Amino acid sequence: MHELSIAQEIINIVKTSLPDGHQKVKNVKIRVGKLSGVLSDSLKFCFESIIYQTELEGALLVIEEIPVQIKCNECNSISIIDNPFFQCKNCQSFDVQLISGKELEITEIELED
Ligand SMILES: [Zn+2]
Repeated sequence: MHELSIAQEIINIVKTSLPDGHQKVKNVKIRVGKLSGVLSDSLKFCFESIIYQTELEGALLVIEEIPVQIKCNECNSISIIDNPFFQCKNCQSFDVQLISGKELEITEIELED
């Protein structure tokens, strides 16, 4: 399962970023692009399952979903698309570049006071 290995990787990163002294983690914030192929619900479920009865238990995975945005090389307008057709919504050109939607990154690890 794809999400399980991603959840494991997130947890590894969080663990190695923690300062010494076993501080409790409150939130782990991540950005997930809609083209990353990751299912947010499934990732959350895997994350919570893995941290159960570990020092990270209780930490929340906060997922920010990033829309797929393309920039047109013809008219320079930016479109948010929700289908797999990379076409400018302004001039219908297919000469476009992807500017967001593939993200999969940790943006913040929030510790308990
Ligand atoms: Zn265009």
